[in-house]
Amino acid sequence: MSPTPTIALNNGQQMPQLGFGVFQVPEDQAQRAVETALETGYRSIDTAAIYGNETGVGRALAATGVPREEVFVTTKLWIDHLGRDAARRGLEESLERLALDRVDLFLLHWPAPATDAYLEAWQGLEDAVEAGLTSGIGVSNFLPEHLERLQKLGGTLPAVNQIELHPALQNRETVAANARLGVATEAWSPLAQGAVLQEPAILEAAAAHDVSPAQAVLRWHLQRGNIVIPKSVTPTRIAENFAIFGFELSDAEVAAIDALERDGRTGPHPADFNG
Ligand code: NDP
Repeated sequence: MSPTPTIALNNGQQMPQLGFGVFQVPEDQAQRAVETALETGYRSIDTAAIYGNETGVGRALAATGVPREEVFVTTKLWIDHLGRDAARRGLEESLERLALDRVDLFLLHWPAPATDAYLEAWQGLEDAVEAGLTSGIGVSNFLPEHLERLQKLGGTLPAVNQIELHPALQNRETVAANARLGVATEAWSPLAQGAVLQEPAILEAAAAHDVSPAQAVLRWHLQRGNIVIPKSVTPTRIAENFAIFGFELSDAEVAAIDALERDGRTGPHPADFNG
């Protein structure tokens, strides 16, 4: 099995471009889903404190024969821990649930701008790197204005900004801001939770390459340079979503999927979401 391509992050880390997400996977199913993903070949797992399944993810990591250093583990700080000391405490609590002494990437889950606490929390994430609790730090759901305020702090820039991104919501301004600052773009809900899989442009690209619509969408992300973390609890889909390295969309197919942008947000808007 050939390894997943990686994206070079601005802190020197290499992050697999394709990983496995576990949002909405119940705690009692998380171990099995992550074990299946690891057996399939995924080497990056995306969880969060708020998902309530870090213990199951940790059990899978402990049970697998895959060495810890070969798996890139991401978790996220929920907005009830936005503060310098609280952020570090939040990571310690996640590590305990994951039964790990370090994660690879720790993200601020949402800026929650009304609380105006994300800058302070960011300093807690920097402390966590110093303390060896995480190798890298990043953000999620940050708009360009939030990234600019972080940049003005003059400290570490986020390695990653994980944002809602799929053919129906391409978040172009934030992607451009990420690129300007050297922050990698990671797409959450890369399949729009299934909402884009019947689009004619996607069906046509899929038929042309004899792949599924989900594979065509994931391939579009890869060719756009996004990091992707599709979620599934279905073993056949877990395998299908990993089999996206044997074909390439043409420029015209990529452009036809680009044209599906329709501000089709499925989650909250980061400017308004404060928990
Ligand atoms: P996805 O876009 O990954 O879609 C998941 C849904 O699509 C599930 O219902 C799954 O069904 C279905 N699905 C998966 N593969 C296929 C396939 N090959 N064909 C058809 N249907 C398929 O949505 P998510 O919202 O889960 O996003 C992915 C990850 O992003 C999350 O798990 C999480 O890690 C992260 N995320 C982060 C957020 C943030 O705020 N930072 C917010 C939301 C997500 P089934 O499981 O039944 O097979």
